[in-house]
Amino acid sequence: MGARACGPCQGCCHVKEIPSLGKPAGRDCRHQGPAGCAVYADRPRGCRRYTCAWIDGWGAEGDRPDLLGVLFEMAPGPFGGLEVRGVELAPGAGDGPAARARLRSWEEVGARVRLQRYPGPAPPRPGESASAGPLTHGRGSGMPANS
Ligand code: SF4
Ligand code: SF4
Repeated sequence: MGARACGPCQGCCHVKEIPSLGKPAGRDCRHQGPAGCAVYADRPRGCRRYTCAWIDGWGAEGDRPDLLGVLFEMAPGPFGGLEVRGVELAPGAGDGPAARARLRSWEEVGARVRLQRYPGPAPPRPGESASAGPLTHGRGSGMPANS
């Protein structure tokens, strides 16, 4: 059980791959909407079990992933330990000053840190139409009371 509620963040609903829904990383889930997850009571097990570092109590209120632009999570490291993985919610979000500072703060306490660049499609170039992009819905309580 996380220490916080997701509120309007839907960061993980967008950037994470959810095989049971056939949802690739970096695309909105078909169940996302302005009012949050439309199947919240019956959401997949992976959604129920997922927690990011912020929902588990790390960081300040302003470090919520949709506000920071980077979602931090703990993942198994290559040698059996844990590593901190930052996942960009939009292209280049990990290069912002606040995100860089948070990445450094993990490194300063000795954590192994890896930044995963935004896994979705590149933003359209001038003249191209946007078929998808970062956090198309993105504001509306994806996992309202994180389980
Ligand atoms: S668990 Fe909640 S706060 Fe964390 S990325 Fe997912 S929606 Fe955002
Ligand atoms: S919590 Fe709901 S909206 Fe979010 S990824 Fe899971 S099913 Fe989709």
